[in-house]
Amino acid sequence: MKRTHLIFILFAALLSACSPNSDRSQERFITVGTGGVTGVYYPTGGAICRMVKKNRAQHNIRCNVESTGGSIYNINTLGAGELSLGVAQADTAFKAWHGHPPFNNKQEKLRAVAALHPEIVSLVTRASANIKTLADVRGKRINTGNPGSGSERTASELFRVCGISKDDLAHEGRLKAAEMPDALRDGKLDGYFYVVGHPTANIKDAASSAPSHLVPLNTPCVAHMVAEHEYYVAADIPGGLYKGIDQATPSFGVKALLVTTTEAPEDVIYNVAKALFENIDDFRNLHPALRQLTAESMREGVTVPFHSGVEKYFRERNWKY
Ligand code: GLU
Repeated sequence: MKRTHLIFILFAALLSACSPNSDRSQERFITVGTGGVTGVYYPTGGAICRMVKKNRAQHNIRCNVESTGGSIYNINTLGAGELSLGVAQADTAFKAWHGHPPFNNKQEKLRAVAALHPEIVSLVTRASANIKTLADVRGKRINTGNPGSGSERTASELFRVCGISKDDLAHEGRLKAAEMPDALRDGKLDGYFYVVGHPTANIKDAASSAPSHLVPLNTPCVAHMVAEHEYYVAADIPGGLYKGIDQATPSFGVKALLVTTTEAPEDVIYNVAKALFENIDDFRNLHPALRQLTAESMREGVTVPFHSGVEKYFRERNWKY
């Protein structure tokens, strides 16, 4: 092709991309903050974007997923205006809303879009570490979670309520979720906490690379935590999900929430809510941890007010909120 032709084609392409009437100029971009790639938040973010994409011809919203450090990172980054949506544990969203630590101020702009899957507090250990109960973590090398994760906060709260000092650990690890299974297999950790939906690739990884164990967390102090906070519920990690772990493991859990802020435009959040609630069957088939979702469960366990765009959608459906 002659050079002048090539320049002309490039120029025409540039003109059409910049034209105010082109579709591209009407596009809106949203980014969903999730968690580590082997957790459940990240594939759930992908599933959310797939649902949003179904109606792109109508709303022109382009959705992207970002792997992040987890709940606290997502809430802080939403607050800074650098994310449009984020996934966060309901306990951390509650703390953010009320300005409880680790948050310095009330995050009054935080809003809910939907409740997602239940996450269960999981203490994954190397079988040879012989950790049978929570109290056995004393003297062991335990990963509580990376900075910015909700897992780390919930594990710290569990330690506090159950009277376990982190000084009693041989080592408190702060590795990222995706790094934990290898560290367990290589003998660098005896166990790790992960507040996560099940099944998750992360624990599949751990259990298939070395004999692993899930520690029951059903002691009286856990019952106390559940009784004190409406966002915690007693819950079992089902048996048969991970290699060598055939029995259900009693523990407790918290809902994962899809959150945003009042800064997000009403029609964008309306369209996200519509995409999720109108495609629940497709949505829940995209990850086994989402399989139990229903239109009711997705409106329950929310610890911050719904966004006005979501309320608009609920009003259309005549749903109470
Ligand atoms: N609940 C975890 C956290 O906020 C993330 C779990 C996941 O990525 O699925 O740290």
